[in-house]
Amino acid sequence: MSGTLYLVPTPIGNLGDISRRMADTLAQADFIAAEDTRVTVKLLNHLGIKKPMAAYHRHNLDTAGPAILNRLLAGENCALVTDAGTPAISDPGEDLVALCAAAGVPVCAIPGPCALPTALSVAGLPTSRFTFEGFLPQNRKNRRAQLDALREEERTMVFYEAPHKLAATLAELADVLGADRRAVLCRELTKLHEEILRLPLGALAERYRQQQPRGEFVLVVEGAAPAPEEVDLDAAQARVEQLRGQGLALKQAAAQAAREMGCSRRTLYERVLGKR
Ligand code: SAM
Repeated sequence: MSGTLYLVPTPIGNLGDISRRMADTLAQADFIAAEDTRVTVKLLNHLGIKKPMAAYHRHNLDTAGPAILNRLLAGENCALVTDAGTPAISDPGEDLVALCAAAGVPVCAIPGPCALPTALSVAGLPTSRFTFEGFLPQNRKNRRAQLDALREEERTMVFYEAPHKLAATLAELADVLGADRRAVLCRELTKLHEEILRLPLGALAERYRQQQPRGEFVLVVEGAAPAPEEVDLDAAQARVEQLRGQGLALKQAAAQAAREMGCSRRTLYERVLGKR
């Protein structure tokens, strides 16, 4: 019987976010697959855990992934950790989970720290519908195409960005989505110098044009205002005629139909008159 791949989130800055289940899972696994074993060994030392480790990162995933899968198929349990946050969210864990899912190896996700929901929940922008954009493509043309596709996006958008690219990304977003678009820049979440900046995209771009960004950032951007609903004026006009048939004067019928159909009373009134 195959073992299980456990996805173990680790703190994104605050060691107080380590949960008992996270620590127990690391302690009970046969081995730990880590994005950077030097980073993970510090966490393990903090927890007093000694465990064999395997490196699994974006530069070796083609070979390390199948090797880990074989160990899982042979019955070992593996805990996957990344440098910080939830494995598989904008990091190579995604590929290992896909490999395991395709091979029928059980995958168990332990809930825990993740920059995406932390930023979204603190932003104060609508959260009932949102889209996670992760890191925008590095290639200029692909990045522009992805941004263009977001012009009409009505859901709140969440982006990850590296500090050295932040200023350019903010400027590009302000250009494509509008300088007035509300945004929330979340810096160094859960850390000592956590900062939540609620400013329009243009102001954020201006601020970081002048100031070198430092730390880790998640950007949350308000969605586009919904397009006004198209009113079916033919249907509205038919409703005026119906109300007229029921004995209402033209003005009253137009007013009532406009109210019911959500269109301008004057437009409807003039349209009916124009047709006559
Ligand atoms: N898997 C991780 C997670 O669960 O959030 C994300 C990994 S991704 C390679 C790293 C990015 O996450 C950073 O570039 C930054 O955008 C975001 N991030 C991670 N920790 C953060 C923090 N403490 N504050 C703000 N953003 C953070």
